[in-house]
Formats: sequence, structure tokens, C-alpha cells
Amino acid sequence: MIMFGTMMTYPLNISQIIEHANLIHGDKRVYTLLPNGKVHSYTYAELYNRVKQLANAMTALGICRGDRVATYAANTYQHLEFYYAVPLMGAVVHPLNIRLSPTQLSKIVNEAEDKLIFVDGQFSEQFAKLQQEIDCKHIVHFNNNSEHSLTEKTIHYEQFIAEADSEYDFEIQDENSAMALCYTSGTDGKPKGVLYTHRSMCLHTLAANQADVFGINESDVVMPVVPMFHAMGWGLPYVSMFAGADIVLHGNNNHRIVDLIAETGVTVAAGVPTVWAKLYPELQKRKREISSLHRLIVGGEPMPPTLIEGYEKELGIEVRHAWGMTEMSPTGTFCTLRKTHQKLPDTEKWNIKAMQGRPIPGVQIRIVNENSVELPWDGKTIGELQVRSPWTAGSYYKTKPSTEHFTEDGWLRTGDLATINKEGYMHIVDRVKAIIRSGGESISPTAIQRVLLTHSQVVEATVIGVPNKKWGERPIAVVVISSDTVENISEVLKQHLATEFPKFWIPDRFIIVDEIPKTGVGKIDKNAIKQLIATEFNISSKG
Ligand code: ADP
Repeated sequence: MIMFGTMMTYPLNISQIIEHANLIHGDKRVYTLLPNGKVHSYTYAELYNRVKQLANAMTALGICRGDRVATYAANTYQHLEFYYAVPLMGAVVHPLNIRLSPTQLSKIVNEAEDKLIFVDGQFSEQFAKLQQEIDCKHIVHFNNNSEHSLTEKTIHYEQFIAEADSEYDFEIQDENSAMALCYTSGTDGKPKGVLYTHRSMCLHTLAANQADVFGINESDVVMPVVPMFHAMGWGLPYVSMFAGADIVLHGNNNHRIVDLIAETGVTVAAGVPTVWAKLYPELQKRKREISSLHRLIVGGEPMPPTLIEGYEKELGIEVRHAWGMTEMSPTGTFCTLRKTHQKLPDTEKWNIKAMQGRPIPGVQIRIVNENSVELPWDGKTIGELQVRSPWTAGSYYKTKPSTEHFTEDGWLRTGDLATINKEGYMHIVDRVKAIIRSGGESISPTAIQRVLLTHSQVVEATVIGVPNKKWGERPIAVVVISSDTVENISEVLKQHLATEFPKFWIPDRFIIVDEIPKTGVGKIDKNAIKQLIATEFNISSKG
């Protein structure tokens, strides 16, 4: 017989985060770089009042429990307000990736059946294209400097909340009710919807802020450079406020990120590796001004070891390399060193940090072979990575769970290939779909990319597979090189790779470009590269 405990039945709810933030950290600040270049700043207490006004205004407009409310916005304080107000009234906040095409986004908005969309005024022109393809009842604009009113149903945000009461009783809802909907980035396929619950997001918030994970505390100033629409801004809008840290939002001003770090004293910043690669030279130049910055949280793609070394050695900034998925809210593993690693030489430490790290408390990981047999944690054997946790999706939005994505015993199939060593450090070899099959053998484009980046002339690099009559597929490298170019760069790079890889791994061709195309969340856009190769070089590419 089960003996039930006698503890309170107290559902986990997003309201607990903002109530705590307001009561205990009400004077902490949220900074936003506005489109006009000025920094807006207000306190958690002010945010809390506006969140309640927003909830009242949406209720008056007819938004009900379970309704989806989309945001089409950069990282701003208004966006943060929706992150709280929508779930607190029992509705579902749905951040849209503003960099997807109107065709991609219209499918998403129509599938989600968004009843209201909050549009950041600086994107009103691009939104107008999307608007023609969707059927959304209400549109609320903010930061609209262009006086560009899209339709008569457009409401201005400040007017919308101005009249609303700042008293609102957040109901403690069923902890399993939906609170947010976020689509995957769609890097190697169609974006898929993940519908989070209050319970899953609260548990993620607690687990993701352990000392060896985000490790954010009250004295931190946190800057999520990661867009709030990329996997819920990696949970930082909730994690930072629960911890009582100041928050710095850069709007859409990527070129002012370093200024903002210097002006607001950012201590922890988070973003994909391509962001940190691009900002590195400026951060290096302004090293003294950005001395407050002591930790980078990096994920979404592998962080090249050379860049980890640059940040740690040259700038003295700790790099925490993380792996996650939209499906995991998104935190899965985090790479911090163990006590036993502290005495290792620096280069060995950086090699460990280039791995994606150990599962955060609450996450279980395993690797399996094609027959679903679990593989050993020996740091060598490669298998498909599978995961489960209280904050991992059990199915996709409006889709029945299929064995393509979920195992019969309840694990998520990540689509990633990985090794795990005996200490529990996971290393992503590649996405299954990215692996190149040449003459019956597998080639990892990520491994080639990593070594290419160790060459002093290489600024950016990626490798993809193209069909080949004889071998099935062959690798091609696409590379950005620094201006002080050496002659015959392809030969030089071939020789560089030959020191690490067998001959058949060496790309047949090196294509030099000015910039590598990126996806809407800043990941290397392999689909765009394939198209570029197909059209420019008349080489058809796979997939
Ligand atoms: P998408 O799969 O469309 O890019 P997500 O943004 O949710 O959607 O990305 C999840 C995927 O990103 C993972 O399955 C993995 O392939 C990749 N990923 C995330 N973090 C890392 C990392 N640190 N190193 C390598 N790959 C990563």
C-alpha cells in the first residue's frame, strides 16, 4: 500500500518566480538598449506592476486560458513582460523566430492558432509580409517609431496597458497546464512545436541554476545575447529573475553589445559560438572596459576549442559549454571541470571544456546503437544520444509521439551522435543527418571543422557532404580566411588536415567565402550553404 506524505499540495507555477522576484528583489533592474540607442532601465517592481496591467488588458480583450499569444520581438523589457503576463493568466506565450521567412512563420502561426501577436515596432515592415498570410485576431505593437500602423486592428502597447488596473490575482493553476510554446530552430528540418508546462519550466529554472550549471546569483548582471525566441532564451528570463540578478537586453543592436557590457557591468552572458567568435576581436581590444564579464554560457553548436582558449587565456573569462535542445527547455548538459581536473595543464582543461559536459542534475542521458542496445561510457564508442528529464518534451505540439523521435521506453531521441566518458562527460560527434558517408565509411564534418579552425588563416569554417558517383558522398569545406592570405590556401589546408585525418576524410574542395550563412538563431546554415554550392559551383548537394 502507498503511504502518502503529508506535505502541502502546492503546484509549481511561473507566478512563484515573479512574486519572489518582486518581493525579495524588487529593486533589481532590467536594462534594455532601445532602437534609438538609449538605455531604458526599470526595476523588477515596476516590471511586476506592468505585468499585472498587461494581464488585465489581455483579459479585457478576451484572451482566455489556453489561448496562444505570440511575440514577434527582439530581447526587450516589453518582451519580458509577455513572458510573465501570458502564462500567469493561464494562456500560452509563443515566441516567434523573427528571422524565419514569412512562409515558414505563417505555417507556425496558423498551426499554433495564435489569437494575439505582440509585434516589436522595429520589425513592423517585415511583419507586414507575414500578416498577409495569417489570420490573427489582435495585433499589439510596441517600440513603433515609424508611426507605421499595420491595420485598424493594431493597438499600441503603451495605450493598451495604460488604462488597465495593476491589481491582478494570479491563480495557482494546475502545474501541468501549458505555459509556453516554442518551435525548434529548424536547423536540419521543419521546426517542431514544444509545449512546456508550468511544472516543467519551474523545475528547469531550479535545475538550470545550480552552481555548476548557470550558477547565477543575486550579484550577477546577466545578458542573454541568445534571442528570447531561441529555446525560450535558454530559460534565462526565468532563471535570472528567480536568482534576483540584473538583466541586460540588447534589443536588436548586435553592434552595441560590447558597449552595453561595459556600461552595465555584465558579469554573465549567453549566446551561440558564432556570436562569441564575431565579438572576440572587439572584446580583446576593449579588455579593460569589459573586465566585469567573468562567465560565458555557450551552446547551440560546438564551441571551437581555439575560441575557448582565447576567451579563457587572453580575456580571463570562464567558458561554460552547454548542450541542449528546445525539447529540453533547453538545458541538458553543462561542461564544468571536476575538482580532479584543476591540476591539469591548461590545454587539457580546454580539451575537456570543448566537450558538451555532464548531464545537469535531473537529466538522464544514454547512448545506444542502431539496435537500441545501450553502449558503454568509455569516451570512444559513438551512439545515438537519448535523454529524459522532467523538463523534456514527451511529444511535439499537435503531433502523436512517433518512434522517429521517442523510444518505446520513454526517452527522447536527440538526433545527435555522441560519446560519453567514464566521468559522464558527453561529447557531440555530430548530428546524425550531418554525417558524411563516403565509400561506406563515416566522416564527421564537425571534427574536420574543429581542426580547420586551428589553422591561423581560418576565421570560420564548415564542412558538408555532396553526392559523388564513385563514393556516394564526398566532403567539401567552406572557409572564411583572414586577409593576410597565403598562396594556394586549399593545398595548405589539405596538408593541415592530413596531420589529423586519414586521406579519405580530406575535403575534395575548399570554397573560400566572405561569410558563412547563419540560421535565424545564429547557427551555421548548412541548407543555405548547400544551395549556394549547388547554384554557384554547379555541384549538387545532398538532402
Ligand atoms: P535545431 O535542432 O533545429 O537546431 P535547437 O535550437 O533546439 O533546434 O537545437 C538543438 C540541437 O542543437 C541539438 O540537438 C544539437 O544538435 C545542437 N546543439 C546544441 N548545443 C550544442 C553544442 N554545445 N554542441 C553541439 N551541438 C549542439
